[in-house]
Amino acid sequence: MSAAAAEKVAAQFQELYGTAPEGVWAAPGRVNLIGEYTDFNDGFVMPLALPHTAVAAVSRRTDGVLRVHSAEAGTGPGQGGVVHLDVTSLTPGAGTGWAAYPAGVVWALRDAGHTAVTGADIHLSSTVPTGAGLSSSAALEVVTALALDDLYGLGLTAPGIAVLAQRAENAFVGVPCGVMDQMASACCTDGHLLHLDTRDLTCRQVPFDLDAHGLRLLVVDTRVKHALGDGAYAERRAGCEAGARALGVRTLREVAYEELPDALERLADPTVRACVRHVVSDNHRVARTMALLDAGDVRAVGPVLDEGHVSLRDDLRVSCPELDLVVSAAGAAGALGARMTGGGFGGSAVVLVEADAADAVAAAVEAAFAAAGYPAPRIFPAVASEGARRLL
Ligand code: ADP
Ligand code: MG
Repeated sequence: MSAAAAEKVAAQFQELYGTAPEGVWAAPGRVNLIGEYTDFNDGFVMPLALPHTAVAAVSRRTDGVLRVHSAEAGTGPGQGGVVHLDVTSLTPGAGTGWAAYPAGVVWALRDAGHTAVTGADIHLSSTVPTGAGLSSSAALEVVTALALDDLYGLGLTAPGIAVLAQRAENAFVGVPCGVMDQMASACCTDGHLLHLDTRDLTCRQVPFDLDAHGLRLLVVDTRVKHALGDGAYAERRAGCEAGARALGVRTLREVAYEELPDALERLADPTVRACVRHVVSDNHRVARTMALLDAGDVRAVGPVLDEGHVSLRDDLRVSCPELDLVVSAAGAAGALGARMTGGGFGGSAVVLVEADAADAVAAAVEAAFAAAGYPAPRIFPAVASEGARRLL
């Protein structure tokens, strides 16, 4: 994010609201390398921040008025233009369209006792692709929370900002997401993966310098989203909770990988068994990935990604033909490994490749999509970037 880009968002704010903003902040989208459907089981995840960011130009207000605007909001009824809200009458679930993301943050702050937040003028502009499983929603929430924390001197920590942003999405917007997306956006650092224990939010920054190893991680956004997605997420969550209950643990995090065969034998319901097998084995794959990275054996992460995809496809059944095609076409073209990332049913996949094979693998995936009659995917390298920060 260049200073010029920040200046541009500040100039747009001035144009909209008639005065310069008090500051400009940025928060990135993320892509998850490994550890999927684990964050609501107190498990482990390993995301990295993307160079794509949501940028917010913000000023305080003392009159209870919250005005929000997004450069990317659509032009349909109630979509474009400045949204005017009253901070004291923000109501969870009331549905204010896209504006619920920043408004939810103001609500969550005030609900947590930060009543010093008495209003704001906010202009947002984001380069994070929306609905592609790259957390454009968390980027909006985290950038809003960081800006208000800074302006109102609330003294929140980065994990504190993430938890507050998650609460905004869960309770105000009404999306039952885990905490990974917001933690990644708030806490990632340049050149690192974030190894996150979602039980206590312990973070470890894991160096991820793919250039130094002659490797590249590609993000393939399939540009599809299957309607099945939302209900299926809740269903998988319920399956995991049923598994934990049946095994007598609080969450599936407490089931060690070594105990998995035994645990599976005790579960009668095949759907619940599949959920348990996925979560316990994916937590183990995060541990294996971290060990391989610590040992400098980055290429060996490829097969772990492949295994993770099979588990999501066959056990959790959250993949789709487009995601499966990315993985099979990339593998056939010589990729080291690939898997769907994010919630599934569309969205994106990650592909680990030798740097000098990246173009050929991308071309093979594009050709496979064309041959299948799918819309062209969007492919770009995932460069581990900085988390949320102030720009101006
Ligand atoms: P993801 O977080 O994976 O991109 P979500 O469905 O969680 O997908 O969030 C996408 C939603 O976030 C969009 O439908 C829109 O409401 C909101 N959103 C994201 N970026 C913007 C933006 N720049 N302007 C307005 N709304 C946005
Ligand atoms: Mg989201």
